[in-house]
Amino acid sequence: MEGEAGERVDLTLLRRHLGAFLLLFCAAWSLVAAPPVAAAPGISRISDIRAWTNEIYTRVAIYTGDEVSWEANTLRADPLHGLPPRIFIDIRGAGIHDGILHKPVEIRNGLLRQVRAGRFDRDTVRVVIDLERESTYRVFALPAPFRIIVDIDGEGEIPALPVSPGPVAAGSSPENPVPSPAAPTASPAIPPSFESPRVAALPPSPARKPRVSVMIDPGHGGKDPGAIGPTGLKEKDVVLDIARRIREKLLLSGEFDVRMTRDEDVFIPLEERTAMANKGSVDIFVSLHINASRNRRAEGFSTYVLSRGASNREDLELAARENGVPVQKLQGVKFIIDDMFTGARKNESLRLAKTVNDAVVRHVSTRYPGAQSNGLKQAPFYVLVGARMTAVLVEASFISNTREEARLRDPACLDGIADGVVEAVRYYGQNGILAHTDY
Ligand SMILES: [Zn+2]
Repeated sequence: MEGEAGERVDLTLLRRHLGAFLLLFCAAWSLVAAPPVAAAPGISRISDIRAWTNEIYTRVAIYTGDEVSWEANTLRADPLHGLPPRIFIDIRGAGIHDGILHKPVEIRNGLLRQVRAGRFDRDTVRVVIDLERESTYRVFALPAPFRIIVDIDGEGEIPALPVSPGPVAAGSSPENPVPSPAAPTASPAIPPSFESPRVAALPPSPARKPRVSVMIDPGHGGKDPGAIGPTGLKEKDVVLDIARRIREKLLLSGEFDVRMTRDEDVFIPLEERTAMANKGSVDIFVSLHINASRNRRAEGFSTYVLSRGASNREDLELAARENGVPVQKLQGVKFIIDDMFTGARKNESLRLAKTVNDAVVRHVSTRYPGAQSNGLKQAPFYVLVGARMTAVLVEASFISNTREEARLRDPACLDGIADGVVEAVRYYGQNGILAHTDY
């Protein structure tokens, strides 16, 4: 870590690059985003560092548990000392788990080299992301549990496809060999779900890739049941059932590559769900949820896109519940959701959300006349923050409403919801709205 103090990036150099404005913005942004010191030294500890990556995108998540004071910045390459461009995050008043200290998380995907962490000074832990080249990045924190998320964009070197399985991969060299999957040399800090960047860097075969790829995200799971109905029906079970129906129907059409963030009753953090969709470079992300309200008469279907705020108290409370944080916390991190996050695919997401909601209500109405549409809405859902594709979140009726809970036990209703989503997604695929054009 030594030798990096005071080596602040020369932004004049970066202005020549496409992402210079973004970098400038992010530097200012990270200063604003840094919360006040909330932990005494040694109490919070960096417990895990995870990464999800492909050749043009990486999300790094740094988990500290309790809230910490942090600041992100960049350093340009230092050829004299053999150092690449870096993004670093200084975390104050925190310790670090021995399993992570000085044990880099290797990436080497043409965009990033590695993520490493060490004690910068007595009160500061520095996490350094070694880049292959200067890249744009966004950094923000999510509460409960506290984690710092770094999203890095860039056009890394596209690795050559190996003619046969072998130890050839992006960034490999005799000096920096890439570990083979059979003999991983990954740090113990890397969780089992971390996929080898060698595997991740391989582009899919164009011949086998359908035109449109979809990631279905059944909300909650495992220790997080989501909302629970008056007779005990759990949101996590309903949405998984619907997700499987959607997958089956989309695959039947033969037009889609379909993936799911979970296909069993497991807990997956919100930031990981988004990262899975980004890493997979999918075209459409559909997060599935069931609404709930203290007003037991509340009913109907809504479909949401990401926005900084909510139009009313109910939507704010809904987003807080789905994010697993109190409403006050949601207000506190409002600034992390900027136009950069919502603008990239905002118009397409709005169109898809409206199409989904209309189609779902229409299909459910054939079995249950009078199914209510609450329409297209916007709210700050963490699972949509940083999504690089058309992304919507469906709230498929109210599990807190006795009549709607009973309806959600009916496979025909779940099938109707799935049919609605499938119809909307197929409409998108067939009408070429995914032609990477923003309106
Ligand atoms: Zn939910």
